[in-house]
Amino acid sequence: YTAKQRNDGAVVYEESIDEGSQQSLSLLTELRRAVENNELRLFVQPKITFSSGSVVGAEALVRWQHPVRGNVFPDQFIPFAEQTGFIRVLTQWVLERSAELCHALAQRGIHLKVSVNLSTRDLLDQDLPVKVAEIFMRHHVSPGAFCLEITESAIMDDPVRAQQTLERLHAMGCDLSIDDFGTGYSSLAYLKRLPVDELKIDKSFVLNMANDVGDAKIVRSTIDLGHNMGLRVVAEGVEDDAAWNILAEMGCDQGQGYFMSRPMPADQLAGWVENWRAPALAE
Ligand code: C2E
Ligand code: MG
Ligand code: MG
Ligand code: MG
Repeated sequence: YTAKQRNDGAVVYEESIDEGSQQSLSLLTELRRAVENNELRLFVQPKITFSSGSVVGAEALVRWQHPVRGNVFPDQFIPFAEQTGFIRVLTQWVLERSAELCHALAQRGIHLKVSVNLSTRDLLDQDLPVKVAEIFMRHHVSPGAFCLEITESAIMDDPVRAQQTLERLHAMGCDLSIDDFGTGYSSLAYLKRLPVDELKIDKSFVLNMANDVGDAKIVRSTIDLGHNMGLRVVAEGVEDDAAWNILAEMGCDQGQGYFMSRPMPADQLAGWVENWRAPALAE
């Protein structure tokens, strides 16, 4: 990109002509348009406790219904949104929709903790706690109804600033969760320093747990580690009853995965919760 001064004094960035940046610029334009034209969709996936089988939460997962490309999954635009800083607009959008959902559920007598994913850029935004508080107030929801998921790498980018942001969010009453736990390359020290409430075991360890002794050992050790630190432990990627039974036996607190439900449009969640029947535990 090259910076140019416009007549009105504003600096604009013109892309150089190589194809990569051409594509990036059009993706950024498309993302902006996606928000304006309501092409983003809030999907949610339920979180279930192993002990009672009840629905206790739901994770917000964004989808992009592109007019030409069809359903675009977050892996195809979240990393790009992070690089360009557009993620802040996207996070704002997800928080707004999640707060709306939380309010709508409460009116039907359904009280779930809604989990929202935050990225590095969000944590470096010192106004984030104020923005979050404003959204909760406007939608009449309590910060205690929210869990914010962050990854190890998001913390390690700028640990000091990330810690400040996370402490303020936690002081407001939001739960904090370490997402994709075990896949980062950071030390365990931040578990002691940060006001964390939950560990989420990455699905790469959970998916093949029934056939891979190594994976099963990692999952069991992570559950024990979390519990020893006084944290709630959640497994993502619970795809079948075998995984459900192993995790229940290991004492994992909550599970999330295709076995219970795939992510669904947010407006289907209330109906789904009302029809939910817990899987029977194996003897
Ligand atoms: P994540 O936060 O670790 O979310 C879990 C991912 O695992 C989701 O993929 C979910 O659909 C998938 N999953 C859940 N259960 C199963 C299962 O049983 N088997 C398998 N194979 N997969 C399962 P999804 O929705 O494609 O999202 C991918 C990633 O994109 C998320 O990983 C998260 O890092 C990011 N993401 C999604 N929505 C947002 C968002 O609103 N903001 C930010 N910053 N990131 C988001
Ligand atoms: Mg997550
Ligand atoms: Mg995860
Ligand atoms: Mg993951």
